[in-house]
Amino acid sequence: MFAAVLDGTDLDNQRALEQLAVLLVRHRPGWHLIAACHRSELDFTDLHHRRAALSVCNGCAVRAQCLEWAIDLGDDIAILGGTTPAERAVIISERAA
Ligand code: SF4
Repeated sequence: MFAAVLDGTDLDNQRALEQLAVLLVRHRPGWHLIAACHRSELDFTDLHHRRAALSVCNGCAVRAQCLEWAIDLGDDIAILGGTTPAERAVIISERAA
């Protein structure tokens, strides 16, 4: 969703959209209160932290809810629900088939 509108031609707009994406990821539904990442300082939108983020997700009690939320949101930048954006794209594609 977010990357699709980031064409790189307007850096101020790109930064604003990236900040919006981070805010959306941080303001998750109520179930996020019991999430493994609830108090994590790890930036799940930075794919350089992918391995660490996926490790946190592996022990998360709300992983399934998070995955569905991420799919519904259309997020394509963050580690969510124990998946990378690319993995969610595959899930979405498979569900549409
Ligand atoms: S599945 Fe991962 S990103 Fe989602 S709430 Fe749990 S720890 Fe956080």
